[in-house]
Amino acid sequence: MPGALDIAGNRLESDDMALIIQKFGGTSVADVDRIKQAAFRTQAEVNAGHQVVVVVSAMAGVTNALVEYTDQMGALADAREYDVVVSSGEQSNAGLMALALQNLGIQARSWLGWQIPIWTDNVHGKARISGINTENIVSRLEVGEVAVVPGFQGMGTNNRLTTLGRGGSDLTAVALAGALRADRCDIYTDVDGIYTSDPRIVTRARKMDRITYEEMLEMASLGAKVLQTRSVELAMNQNVRLQVRSSFVEDLGTFVVSEEEIMEQQIVSGISHSRDEAKVTLLQVSDRPGVAAGIFGPLAESSVNVDMIVQNVSEDGKTTDLTFTVGQSELETAVTVLREKQSDIGFGDIVADANLVKVSVVGVGMRSHAGVAQTMFTALAEKGINIKVITTSEIKVSVLIDAEYTELALRALHTAYGLDEDND
Ligand code: ADP
Ligand code: ASP
Ligand code: MG
Repeated sequence: MPGALDIAGNRLESDDMALIIQKFGGTSVADVDRIKQAAFRTQAEVNAGHQVVVVVSAMAGVTNALVEYTDQMGALADAREYDVVVSSGEQSNAGLMALALQNLGIQARSWLGWQIPIWTDNVHGKARISGINTENIVSRLEVGEVAVVPGFQGMGTNNRLTTLGRGGSDLTAVALAGALRADRCDIYTDVDGIYTSDPRIVTRARKMDRITYEEMLEMASLGAKVLQTRSVELAMNQNVRLQVRSSFVEDLGTFVVSEEEIMEQQIVSGISHSRDEAKVTLLQVSDRPGVAAGIFGPLAESSVNVDMIVQNVSEDGKTTDLTFTVGQSELETAVTVLREKQSDIGFGDIVADANLVKVSVVGVGMRSHAGVAQTMFTALAEKGINIKVITTSEIKVSVLIDAEYTELALRALHTAYGLDEDND
């Protein structure tokens, strides 16, 4: 189906029929009225002669409420039933959206994850998609019917319902776009595009026309939840033409594209932050070969994901301090596991701190420019913000700071890298 596209991803030959995936996030389908509004967006594409697959999230707040119910039921024993509960918000919205479309005179039906099916592995709560049967949907699209698919859900090889991890409706949309070789995948949300930083915090953040897959992948994995990280990864691998746009205003949004499509690279394209950070410091760790393996081995076995790591130089050649970060929900497990192994590993004490935030600057232009990290350190120093841990990769620099400085740091960095709206 793909053919020549203009910058906005519209087919150049305007009479051509395109296949478009429209994904509506929680705020875009937050109640019956919003669903009716969203249905007009679908109607516009249908009237333009396009085939449309609509992917819906649950109404805003519903998934959190469902997760809360499972928590109240007591310690989680059966993740398969967790998935049955938390996927239900998408199911009812798929039915409601199909009804909204039918009321506009559009042929539409819902396709639940197991009816398509969208096959996944059996890792309940964060299943991975392994394949999608497209024949049934394709034959209905060909006769002009709109397919409405609940996001976030699939079917495991055990024939049980699975969910794809929080924010997983983005992944459903991108996976369908890839499998159906769609011309465009539009992610409708409550902001009109991808900004240089979270526009709810940095008021001078600027909407980008385009961003590379690679930068968006870094920004998402470093906390910019506007797109689920795994969905960006899949879009990059399958070359899905992705647009983030608003369901509240008509404008074009931000396109996520490959590097070749962007002529002039910014050195820093965006600034992300993640509040889900906790720091663990082991004091007086014995300085001998194998000690890092002794610490991180048991953590990995307990499925604790370690992110940043710093080991100090040992002054006396006998002991050293070692600091690392984990997600806040894993802090308790990390501390318990290490306390159990204290005598095997050999350390003096353990200190934990969960009141932290990770701030990251991201840009593919960093590959060819020096001094990016220095600008960050200077800007933070000028505001009196202390850096606790630093990590870098080819296209990002991350620092860990006290959570109370989040807004100050984001705004200062945004200015320091010349990203503020009025800088044009
Ligand atoms: P949806 O429910 O539609 O999936 P999300 O809440 O998952 O919406 O994502 C949209 C939100 O992402 C915005 O409201 C915004 O606060 C946040 N966000 C974080 N970083 C960015 C960014 N760099 N650009 C745009 N939005 C961002
Ligand atoms: N409703 C799910 C969530 O809140 C999936 C999604 O909306 O993307 O995580
Ligand atoms: Mg989302």
